[in-house]
Amino acid sequence: MTNILLSVDLKTLILLTVLNFLINGIFLLFVFGIRHRSFIQWLAYGCFLFALGWLFFLYRFVNGINLITLPLANVLILAMPIFLGFSIDSFLGKRRSKIILGVIAFVLLFTFLFLSWIMHDKWIPGMYTSIINGIFYSIPGIYMLKFATPKNIIVWAIIGLNFLISLLLIVRSFILLLGWLYPDTINETIVMGILVGVLCLNIICINAQVLCFPILDFTEAQKELILANRKLEDLSNIDDLTGLPNRRALRVKLDQEAAYHAENNLPFSIILFDLDHFKLINDKFGHLVGDSVLKNAASLLKQLVRPSDLVMRYGGEEFMVLLPETESSEAFIVAERLRLGISQFQFSYSDPSVAFQVTASFGVSTLNANLLNVTELVRRADIALYRAKTEGRNRVCIE
Ligand code: GH3
Ligand code: MG
Ligand code: MG
Repeated sequence: MTNILLSVDLKTLILLTVLNFLINGIFLLFVFGIRHRSFIQWLAYGCFLFALGWLFFLYRFVNGINLITLPLANVLILAMPIFLGFSIDSFLGKRRSKIILGVIAFVLLFTFLFLSWIMHDKWIPGMYTSIINGIFYSIPGIYMLKFATPKNIIVWAIIGLNFLISLLLIVRSFILLLGWLYPDTINETIVMGILVGVLCLNIICINAQVLCFPILDFTEAQKELILANRKLEDLSNIDDLTGLPNRRALRVKLDQEAAYHAENNLPFSIILFDLDHFKLINDKFGHLVGDSVLKNAASLLKQLVRPSDLVMRYGGEEFMVLLPETESSEAFIVAERLRLGISQFQFSYSDPSVAFQVTASFGVSTLNANLLNVTELVRRADIALYRAKTEGRNRVCIE
């Protein structure tokens, strides 16, 4: 393994790193075009700066060690984990504190000046930049570990990759420290081998992270989309006053149930009912009280039917109950129960001492071998309801 690392030409590897990070940056900008999230932009900037840093580093092989380009190269390379941190910050929706920004600016400036001064030393620049880089890479990892919830496999991959680079850089720093203290124990080729290893790992990790982040973002977007769709579906199927399924949902459910019962030769009944003289309640107590009567009636109805029965708001003060596998005689009993329940309920409004009662008129119809059409089923329930109204209200009629 060490032999393989040593036989890698450093210049070629650096050139590959530059190209790789440029491609990663461009890829991220492309992703940014799809989903405008600032964390993608930060990561792209980090990639570009990293590529630029290594390009400056490469300059040393052309014109020798330069006291501006080499420290600048190190500062730019150091910017990558910082921008990665910014990116994670943005992803988690946190705010960067001014103190942290100040510390970063100071470290970068110090690094530039320090390296300009000590650039010709064999051990110290590498040792210094490796330990700082190692610390910087561990910060996004710790940050993710602490704040990213929930942690899926992609989050764990990002955390792991950051810690891996961090660890390797710190190990490199210690080996260089050893070389500084005991120059005879470590030769230059090993030092070079470690640099090659770190670079290779950097390439692998950044490629993985550049892929991981958009995937993480897209899975999040997918979840948001599913939730939003669910909410939209609820909004279009639920009546917002009573919380009952609305007429639109009713139509779908009615067709489904009718088809199922007809296919299986099962009886299926519906109850259509309408609150009596509801207009008077609105006129007497106001529309808000009218609304609360509808709400109370809805929750009362849910308590009075079986779990398999479906209560829906048909319109204004009209409701429909679907009774699966129910004969008309049984449906009549359920309707009677509802009628009694409603008529005995004490409705009240803001002043609880003033309670009033409300009655309702019911129409029942049943789907069976003689009647297989849903439209006809509803029409008959409507006729029965109308009859209950004309015969004096507060009663159940069957058609
Ligand atoms: P009937 O016994 O013949 O059914 O008499 P009614 O007064 O109940 O019937 P009508 O159709 O004349 O009036 C229904 C009233 O229901 C009129 C309308 O303002 C009221 N209404 C419909 N939807 C709502 C609602 O969501 N909130 C309130 N407060 N009132 C509603
Ligand atoms: Mg009415
Ligand atoms: Mg009505």
